Amino acid sequence: MLNIVKKTALDVGCEFYENEPMSNRTSFKTGGSAEMLVCPGNINALIAVLKVCRENNIRTFIIGNGSNILVSDNGLSGVVIMLSSNFSEIKLLDGETVYCQSGVSMTKLCRFALEHSLSGLEFAFGIPGTAGGAAYMNAGAYGGEMKDVLVKCEHIDENFNLSSFSGDDLKLGYRKSAYTDKDFIITSLTLKLKKSDYDCVKAKMDENMAKRRDKQPLEYPSAGSTFKRPEGYFAGALIQECGLKGFCIGGAQVSEKHAGFVINKNNACTDDILKLIKHIQDTVYKTKGVLLETEVKFFE
Ligand SMILES: Cc1cc2nc3c(=O)[nH]c(=O)nc-3n(C[C@H](O)[C@H](O)[C@H](O)COP(=O)(O)OP(=O)(O)OC[C@H]3O[C@@H](n4cnc5c(N)ncnc54)[C@H](O)[C@@H]3O)c2cc1C
Repeated sequence: MLNIVKKTALDVGCEFYENEPMSNRTSFKTGGSAEMLVCPGNINALIAVLKVCRENNIRTFIIGNGSNILVSDNGLSGVVIMLSSNFSEIKLLDGETVYCQSGVSMTKLCRFALEHSLSGLEFAFGIPGTAGGAAYMNAGAYGGEMKDVLVKCEHIDENFNLSSFSGDDLKLGYRKSAYTDKDFIITSLTLKLKKSDYDCVKAKMDENMAKRRDKQPLEYPSAGSTFKRPEGYFAGALIQECGLKGFCIGGAQVSEKHAGFVINKNNACTDDILKLIKHIQDTVYKTKGVLLETEVKFFE
């Protein structure tokens, strides 16, 4: 069945990989293989792949840089569509408005803002992943979030039409957006930034990056904060108070540096990570009465 996707990918000039280990494509460095992974280079190629999958009842999974997903050890049956380096146009629309395709990395987007002395994305410097993933998740840090700067997203809807959401229709909330419960694919973002001073923007970005290096276990594979912040609490503090810092299941560990991070300490598989997540949730619920919800998305 996947031969038909392969033919389409070749026809439209898409890079593709068969039996691609998802451990190579996720920041957790775990997960089995995807039957096929395609990296469309433009919207027409993306739509052609989506259509052929739909016509042949083949499941599709959309990923950016895989920095907030956990993939089953059994792999993914179907086609993973990866929108990253091939989908990476970025430009200034006017003095303070930036347009980028959804595959642009957040690092590149932040550096672009800095080069143009634009303020607004300082909070995001150091968040791994693509602009599309950040819009989907309403990524945030250090008091800022995508909601503060994102004014419009273009997407492909369930009928393969190119359309967009702007303003309130983006429904940006804590680690969620209008896209969270939809099968739409974000193709571009428009961000409204503010003219500022190069040195001020750079100083804030450097400060945020230094905080990350200081507090986060960046030397180990992870997906960042494993859990959402429960109202009125901090996930990391709750986990630490339950004595779980450093606790391991298989190769997965509650980071000793930051208890809010589950890390792949020693060749973990996804199952180790899932078991550890469940153990943390059960322990925190029993001890503190707080239900921890995962921020990380599970793909199976
Ligand atoms: C060390 C580390 C630190 C981190 N720090 C932070 C932080 O400070 N703040 C924060 O918010 N997050 C943080 N994260 C998590 C992660 O980087 C963000 O959630 C990021 O925005 C995910 O982007 P991505 O491109 O990797 O998305 P992926 O992980 O590939 O996908 C995440 C979700 O978005 C969907 N998606 C991705 N692209 C698209 C698209 N174009 N159209 C539709 N759906 C799409 C996927 O289907 C999936 O459901 C951190 C992760 C790591 C590893």
